[in-house]
Amino acid sequence: MAGYLLARAGVPVIVLEKHADFFRDFRGDTIHPSTLQLMYELGLLEEFLKQPHQEVHELRAVINGQAVPIADFTKLPTRCKFIAFMPQWDFLNFLSTHAKKFPTFQLLMEHEVVDLTFDQQRVTGVRVKTPRGELEICADLIIGADGRHSIVQARAGLERQDFGVAIDVLWMRIAKKQDDPQQSLGYFQQGKLLVLLDRGDYWQCGFVIPKGSFDDNQSTRSAAISKRYR
Ligand SMILES: Cc1cc2nc3c(=O)[nH]c(=O)nc-3n(C[C@H](O)[C@H](O)[C@H](O)COP(=O)(O)OP(=O)(O)OC[C@H]3O[C@@H](n4cnc5c(N)ncnc54)[C@H](O)[C@@H]3O)c2cc1C
Repeated sequence: MAGYLLARAGVPVIVLEKHADFFRDFRGDTIHPSTLQLMYELGLLEEFLKQPHQEVHELRAVINGQAVPIADFTKLPTRCKFIAFMPQWDFLNFLSTHAKKFPTFQLLMEHEVVDLTFDQQRVTGVRVKTPRGELEICADLIIGADGRHSIVQARAGLERQDFGVAIDVLWMRIAKKQDDPQQSLGYFQQGKLLVLLDRGDYWQCGFVIPKGSFDDNQSTRSAAISKRYR
């Protein structure tokens, strides 16, 4: 998105992605109303909504067997009064396809940043590993958008602040049956939570467990592993 906005402003920009594609399973699906508003302001919304997606105007959960509404988006002061469900890779492919229409935008796949270059204390560029060998790219601005294990952040010596998280989520797929009920966001039962995302012919499921308890709990682990491959 930063690359898109910079290229739209006429700034030459190179986005480096270490993988050959954006396919990451068990990633975000929800495109929130605020993001859709941004797409609208960028003039991309109409095209965006032509991509396969589901629109959820209300979120419901089933708490101890009872369906309860937990969020109603219809009153939001935004263009789209819903969450769009779309796999993250479709969203990124859409965004990069449109960014490539700007003459100053380049997306280089299979280009992994392995280090930064410095002029004394100032970061001047990145060293990149590619299938055709290593290269160095100089730039006035380096944006480290390389995820939670960011090499850019580490090499720049930026300190990471850990806010702590109380939960882990086990992600798995469960095949969908024709008579499955309509999507609910989640099922709460006896202190346990299962999140369900409708992916067409299967459910992407997230089972919430206490942080760090995965390795301690053999039964949870074998259940998760067996479901993962169903
Ligand atoms: C299971 C799960 C579910 C989520 N659900 C949602 C959701 O429903 N809605 C939502 O809004 N958010 C969701 N999120 C959060 C969302 O996925 C993240 O906030 C978002 O992906 C972070 O974006 P990012 O660009 O900072 O990092 P990432 O998405 O991690 O992107 C980093 C990119 O950099 C690449 N990269 C890494 N290292 C290098 C390197 N050295 N050189 C070049 N490229 C590199 C990676 O391959 C990757 O493509 C979810 C996250 C998870 C894990």
